Amino acid sequence: MSQVAEVIVDVPTMQTNTPYSYLIPAALTTPLLPGMRVIVPFGNGSRKVQGFVWQVHEQVPTTHELKTIDSVMDLSPVLNKELLAMADWLAKTTFAFTITVLLTMLPNALKAAYERWATPNSDLDPASKKRLFGEQEKIELTDKLPAAQLNELMGLYRKHEISVTYEVKSKGHVKQVTMVKPAMSVAELQEAKQQLRITAVKQADLLDYLVTQTDLISQPALEKTLGITSTVIKNAAEKGWLTRFQAEVYRDPLSRAVDKTRPLHLNEAQQKAVSAICAATDDHEDTTFLLEGVTGSGKTEVYLQAIANALEKGQNALMLVPEISLTPQIVGRVRGRFGKQVAVLHSGLSAGERFDEWRRIDRGEARVVVGARSAVFAPLTNIGIIIMDEEHEASYKQDDNPRYHARDVALWRSRYHHCPVVLGSATPSLESRARAQKNRYQRLLLPTRVNQQALPEATIVDMTQELQKHAESTFSSPLMAAVNDRLAKGEQTLLMLNRRGYSSFVMCRDCGFVLKCPNCDISLTLHMDSHSMKCHYCGHEEPIPQICPNCHSHHIRYYGTGTQKVETELKQLLPTARILRMDVDTTRRKGAHERLLRQFGNHEADILLGTQMIAKGLDFPDVTLVGVLNADTALSLPDFRSSERTFQLLTQVSGRAGRAQKPGQVFIQTYNPEHYAIQLAKSQDYERFFLTEMKLRHQGNYPPYYFAVKVTASDVEERVAAAAIHQIAAQLQAGMSQSAIVLGPTPSAIARVNKRYYYQLVIKYKQEPQLSALLFNLLNQAQKNRKGLQIAIDNNPMSFM
Ligand code: ADP
Ligand code: ZN
Ligand code: ZN
Repeated sequence: MSQVAEVIVDVPTMQTNTPYSYLIPAALTTPLLPGMRVIVPFGNGSRKVQGFVWQVHEQVPTTHELKTIDSVMDLSPVLNKELLAMADWLAKTTFAFTITVLLTMLPNALKAAYERWATPNSDLDPASKKRLFGEQEKIELTDKLPAAQLNELMGLYRKHEISVTYEVKSKGHVKQVTMVKPAMSVAELQEAKQQLRITAVKQADLLDYLVTQTDLISQPALEKTLGITSTVIKNAAEKGWLTRFQAEVYRDPLSRAVDKTRPLHLNEAQQKAVSAICAATDDHEDTTFLLEGVTGSGKTEVYLQAIANALEKGQNALMLVPEISLTPQIVGRVRGRFGKQVAVLHSGLSAGERFDEWRRIDRGEARVVVGARSAVFAPLTNIGIIIMDEEHEASYKQDDNPRYHARDVALWRSRYHHCPVVLGSATPSLESRARAQKNRYQRLLLPTRVNQQALPEATIVDMTQELQKHAESTFSSPLMAAVNDRLAKGEQTLLMLNRRGYSSFVMCRDCGFVLKCPNCDISLTLHMDSHSMKCHYCGHEEPIPQICPNCHSHHIRYYGTGTQKVETELKQLLPTARILRMDVDTTRRKGAHERLLRQFGNHEADILLGTQMIAKGLDFPDVTLVGVLNADTALSLPDFRSSERTFQLLTQVSGRAGRAQKPGQVFIQTYNPEHYAIQLAKSQDYERFFLTEMKLRHQGNYPPYYFAVKVTASDVEERVAAAAIHQIAAQLQAGMSQSAIVLGPTPSAIARVNKRYYYQLVIKYKQEPQLSALLFNLLNQAQKNRKGLQIAIDNNPMSFM
């Protein structure tokens, strides 16, 4: 009896969550294991696709003939048992295909790229064959092929005179370096030195080094240390003084050294939290803790000591942080405590660095993993604690397939490993806080700042009044007075421009024409650095218009407030102040975040002006003033979470002020001074905000009282997308109970993106046992449907927009 592998195949247009059966070649005597990647034939032609072995079993009699696995890509599984089980669960709960989930779990370097090759068929005429293929058996179809050649190939392909085959190529490569070690005894090396000519200084240095060498050294490092060339080393190898060999090395994303830190003496609240968490680790209990601590209350120290405990008990730790490129400080603190045992995973790393960190984890060499959203899939075993810092952050939810929330995955892993999860925040999501209310999560409180420093004093500035007093300006007089005061005292200021749903655009004063993207339903944003208008959705770019394209008037004006414009204004108001700007434009290059923060930390600037990026995680002792330039922009968004987002953002950014000895002060500029989210952020009263907001959510039947699913249909033709969403609405409604609420169908908030039209509906429900099957049905239907139409399903969406 032969063996059969159940394989999840990667066929983009024909996805299914059902594995396909393949015979395992008899020649393969070492068993195949689940989680290994294989290449299998698929469909009728010569098509080869990648797949993951899902299960292996003895062959059972079937009516149809099975195909055989073509080749095996991995010597051992790239995904372990836990991750395979998780993929199965995640595909079901996020309405994704298993293959999408499996690929999401792998580092990019391990994701296969397909190469396409053309091969001649037997009936290809010899002249064409010689001209196109020469002596080769096949040629690669790259996008660099000259058009003439491509045309000829296309013609021949349609006449079935050539075939196209797909080959899978893995991009993951192990970095190697040449290492050097002595090949002679000390006596022999000293003897060799005696024989040298007196002028052979470099060779003498090398021999001296080899005599005393204790650690392995790479050739490049040796060349640098001794200031010698590769020729000297090559000659030495030929003389038999040393041998060279290839060794695997890791690319280290954190090459910068960090100072080692020691555990701090905990205050009472911290101690209570650490004890509760450690007890759960020690007892292997999958408790979920909600660590609610005001900004600066020392949550990070709690995390670090809980991790230390897990490590002492021989277990490993996973720590998630929002967007790691925004929080280099926190990574530094973890690395400072646990050193080389820490692996870091985030999108700022190169594919190679990520791959190396991933392998260190996979091999058990790294025992603490710190990373952003996708680090929740780190192949860490024997987990003793999972931490999720700033658990309310929207970036934990992926807004593409699979649309998973890292918190749900963290909770799944905690059940799998029987270990606790700590969800930390100064402003927990309503969902998590509500679960703590019902005792499903255990609440831990850090009510005061470390060293009893008071929370910063906040002032709300009513910008409508400011406008009446003096000409339009981004800066109110009280805020400017405070900034000047800090400049005089040599203290530092953070200024935040909330850019959510807000940007600079160009409008004609005569006819009101606004320059829009030709591909999307959104106005173009003005970028002064590149002197162009850009679309933030599709990347379209065009020159800044000098005259109105509509009425040809010259009265065309810039509106809105970009960080660049604010920076210019600020420089005019404060000619002597040193200002750093932090936004997408100034942080595009690798390491730019870190550099800006380091400069600010070194007092190379007085003011850090930035977007939401500066709101999170920063801990600078000399920042005593925080100014929020426009608190309202998120409030105006038509979304059930807009108040929550506003409250969280204002509380976060206020928390950056006065974290050390000197007290902090905050100014919040707003056009809605009476709004409860702004009023309660001023007093940093999370509890009252929670109660107020819960009441509103209850009245409006919103999460966390209701579950929600968003379904989006998109197509290049508007009527196709619209017809599809109406049909979906009817289909779902027929299968659900009367208590389910359907919002829409409507065009999406941005109705056209990249030449595609988007229509959506949102379902709010309490209990719908049929819904999951109905939604999967939609997905499967959509694949069989006409090509262009796409259906996206977002379970528990972050917003309804
Ligand atoms: P949070 O994450 O809650 O905003 P942090 O963990 O950043 O707060 O702590 C704020 C500051 O207080 C940090 O500089 C930290 O080193 C310091 N800190 C934390 N715990 C203690 C402690 N027990 N004793 C002294 N300093 C502490
Ligand atoms: Zn666009
Ligand atoms: Zn005009």
